[in-house]
Amino acid sequence: MPSKVYDVIIIGAGLSGLASAVLLSEAGKSVCVLEARTTPGGRIRSVLEPGTNKCLADLGPTWVWPMFQPVISSWLDKLNLSSFPQYETGNAVIDNGPDQNVQQIPLPGQQGSMRIEGGSQALVDALVNKLPKETIICRSKVSSVNQESDGSICIETETKDNSKFYSKKLIVAVPPRIAKNTINWIPALPTALSNAMDMMPTWMSPHAKIAAIYDRPFWRENGLSGRIVGRTGPIVEGHDHCSEDGNVAAIWGFIGWPHDMRLAHSNALKDQVNKQLKRCFGEEPKSIIIEDWSQDAHVTSPDDLMIPMQHPSVGSDSLRQGYFDNSVWFAGAETAQRSPGLIEGALDAANQTVKSLIISS
Ligand SMILES: Cc1cc2nc3c(=O)[nH]c(=O)nc-3n(C[C@H](O)[C@H](O)[C@H](O)COP(=O)(O)OP(=O)(O)OC[C@H]3O[C@@H](n4cnc5c(N)ncnc54)[C@H](O)[C@@H]3O)c2cc1C
Repeated sequence: MPSKVYDVIIIGAGLSGLASAVLLSEAGKSVCVLEARTTPGGRIRSVLEPGTNKCLADLGPTWVWPMFQPVISSWLDKLNLSSFPQYETGNAVIDNGPDQNVQQIPLPGQQGSMRIEGGSQALVDALVNKLPKETIICRSKVSSVNQESDGSICIETETKDNSKFYSKKLIVAVPPRIAKNTINWIPALPTALSNAMDMMPTWMSPHAKIAAIYDRPFWRENGLSGRIVGRTGPIVEGHDHCSEDGNVAAIWGFIGWPHDMRLAHSNALKDQVNKQLKRCFGEEPKSIIIEDWSQDAHVTSPDDLMIPMQHPSVGSDSLRQGYFDNSVWFAGAETAQRSPGLIEGALDAANQTVKSLIISS
């Protein structure tokens, strides 16, 4: 007999897994979250200032749109977090490449794009702080899910001693392609579900993002918004990323080079990003950090690298049903019925999945 059987185990401590854990814990359930990495957050990752752990820049998501997104709006209220508008005052820089002069022109604003005070990391920290200690077990990559003859779920992890965990119910808050291809399911997942999981790309997973840290936001004094439109790259889209109080000065950008080129020329990439930022603003940053999500096996599957990414449409209904006698449920941005792929979707999936799981109990 297992020594402990949780009411619910959640695989994955990304936003959806953490929000599900908070809701279940508030409903009085005993919950355990198993996370493969060393820290929670999933696709939410930040550059933290050494010593203070203050968030300097987001390496994953940056924007939310509370004006159009009721779910993040209510979670921000619940977690006592605030948001502020993306800085857009001044001209954008159009960069036509190394041997060309940059142009400075006004561009239309990005209506409603808001940033969370303290970075997206603040969402993760606030959720973690709401959970009882020891709810999240990191460095615990789940390798198999097995429904026992009594209906309970046995979860095996790739730890030194292959630790096993037991629960009455399971929420899989891992991108569907990863959950299908890296976890051994006993019994096998139904074909319709398995196909639906294959069809659902993990949003943003083939991309890479840079954060450039400066001493001060001097571009603002020069009438620039911090926005970059890069015609030749490496940065193809960039934005101001200073903190609301202006104490952190930063720019973030998406890299336009394909993943295999990034991998083969990582030193050249850093060098060219520095040169491009100097071309755009007149100064190189004091540091740059490049996060290449295509190299992250916990969110990116080989299929995500094959086909150019388009914003995902809502996935099959089979991603939002209970399996194994309603013991196994899925959550995560990619299973959401609203705003799939986005923070809004990750939180909506948590809300809906927890509701369905509790009703089915
Ligand atoms: C570069 C980038 C920019 C983005 N920009 C935006 C934006 O501006 N606005 C927006 O709304 N959204 C944006 N997104 C999307 C947003 O980050 C995601 O929607 C959201 O973070 C997904 O959360 P999740 O919990 O569904 O999944 P994830 O964050 O992917 O969490 C899944 C977790 O499962 C873990 N895991 C995987 N396999 C296992 C296993 N076998 N065992 C245990 N744990 C496992 C992973 O390590 C991970 O922690 C962006 C994403 C990226 C990468």
